[in-house]
Amino acid sequence: MERCQWCGKDSSGYGMVVLTIKEDEPSQLICEDCYNRYTADMLGVEDYKDFEKEATFKDCDGIDHYFQVGKKIHPTGICWKAVEFTGVDKIGYSFEVHQDFEEDSNDALRRLYKKIRKGLSQKFIKREVFQGHELISFKDNLVEGRIEWDDRYDDRTPKFIIDGQEYSLEEIGRMMMSCEGWNFKLEIIEPTE
Ligand SMILES: [Zn+2]
Repeated sequence: MERCQWCGKDSSGYGMVVLTIKEDEPSQLICEDCYNRYTADMLGVEDYKDFEKEATFKDCDGIDHYFQVGKKIHPTGICWKAVEFTGVDKIGYSFEVHQDFEEDSNDALRRLYKKIRKGLSQKFIKREVFQGHELISFKDNLVEGRIEWDDRYDDRTPKFIIDGQEYSLEEIGRMMMSCEGWNFKLEIIEPTE
């Protein structure tokens, strides 16, 4: 648990912002609400609050995914985010859209919801049980997901979140070995794209 240094609210730590106002003053740890109020005042923009903070969506297998919806107002625009918490410090699905200040927040939220529905409409990994063992493999020749740091290792080892679930570098490597000898292309995409 971490506490906002401005309003005193306890937070899981997710969405907290380290804010440095003046270079010679110590940084402060503040919550998303305080950060948005501060940046909205500074930029003279609306701090839009009239939105659902929670949303549940079904994936293509009929499984419910529960999202927490939030935003951060940046000098370049607003970042809307829907995050699925699957455990302590664990995030499953995560979707982001960028809103320009000229755009209506409701339109940005509609784009976010559309992105969630599209993201949940297909899966990239196939799980089968064969002779008591779970086999995982790529469903097709295309896989989409998110790169995160695997904190089980000290070095810069990634893990991958695909279909809202974690896969280690080793697991991905094993799945790729079913295509040994083939070529591949790798494309890195910004979270708001
Ligand atoms: Zn606060």
